[in-house]
Amino acid sequence: MDLEKYTLGIGDRFAHQGEAQLNALIKAEKAGVHVAPVWNKSFREHQTVGSNHAETKKEADEAINALNWPGNYYVDADHINLSNVGEFLDYANFFTIDVADHIGEKADEEDINQFVKSNTRLIGNTEIPGIQNASQVTENAIREIGEKYLYAAQKAGEVYRFIADKKGGDHFVAEVSMDETDLPQTPLELLVILSALAHKNIPLQTLAPKFSGRFNKGIDYVGDISQFEKEFKADIQVLDFAVREFDLPENLKLSIHTGSDKFSIYPVIGKIIRKYNKGIHVKTAGTTWLAEVIGMCLAGDDGLEMAKRIYRTAYNQVEKLTEAYAAVIDIDQNQLPEPEKVNNWKAEEFANTLRHVPDHPQYNPHFRQLMHVSYKIAAQMGAEYTGLLKKYEDTIAAEVTENLFEGHIKRLFF
Ligand SMILES: [Zn+2]
Repeated sequence: MDLEKYTLGIGDRFAHQGEAQLNALIKAEKAGVHVAPVWNKSFREHQTVGSNHAETKKEADEAINALNWPGNYYVDADHINLSNVGEFLDYANFFTIDVADHIGEKADEEDINQFVKSNTRLIGNTEIPGIQNASQVTENAIREIGEKYLYAAQKAGEVYRFIADKKGGDHFVAEVSMDETDLPQTPLELLVILSALAHKNIPLQTLAPKFSGRFNKGIDYVGDISQFEKEFKADIQVLDFAVREFDLPENLKLSIHTGSDKFSIYPVIGKIIRKYNKGIHVKTAGTTWLAEVIGMCLAGDDGLEMAKRIYRTAYNQVEKLTEAYAAVIDIDQNQLPEPEKVNNWKAEEFANTLRHVPDHPQYNPHFRQLMHVSYKIAAQMGAEYTGLLKKYEDTIAAEVTENLFEGHIKRLFF
């Protein structure tokens, strides 16, 4: 199963926006760019919402059939590990094997020695594109990186083989993710990590490293864009080299995660992948929930009331809602409007405050980040919330499609 060059991670919290999201990809298709959809949902998200992967697959199947999507599509068991992969096996054909928790755990000394030995060809090699200073590539450097990442690669191998035993290696796409960690990986680390994954015979097609800068939920990238550009370019070059050197799948590409709207770096990523003729996988799922709330609040008074209620509830439990997300949100509580004030807002003001239009005077990134992590509150409302999704289906779908196409796809692929 060969993953397409361009793929977009979609999927929404409540499995109602399958067609609306796919419509954004159909718009891209009509404009001449093929982007294959990947419905992703993690174990954590299923737990928060009270959903399961059978429902995710059903949403994908129904949208694909309803809109006659012309190509392949994928259902991703996102951020899984050995303890929870079981319940995804029957419904996923894409597995994001998450080993971030094992970074820094040390493999057996003998394994590390063996690994270092197998990489002697890299030492001092001046021909590795993306590695500017060949003198950094010493035996010691490889050993240090091996000590940090080899064990994680071994764990990824265990999960990969578990899935391959059950499904057959040709019946799914494997991604390895290391993005949910504190420190970004350098291009040299990426090179050695790819060596380790190849060493463990994982035919991964996408890899999600951690990049430098902040990728906060729902809002734009925060960091030095020119620094990001250099790093991303070096990563792409290293990846290209690794494919040849370690005999990894030809179509291996980077995967960019986290629920952020990476608007300001999309054009940079787009420019580099086109220049080097590389693919990309970008996960966007979290943003659709926000488009849904915006559509709902614009559609009718009860929709606006629901949106206000979610905010009010979230405002009163900011600490509790945000504690699990310290690495991926930056909310200044002083910048959050008081619920009494929000109660007087008209629909447009609520929508403009929430919608990610960076230079709109009413846009409030603190408000948006808090709403991003508040889908749990909507989940607790159950049918009361999903009933409104059905009632205002058309307005909400338009908002969802527009957000994905104008906000994400156009900035990245055109
Ligand atoms: Zn991720």
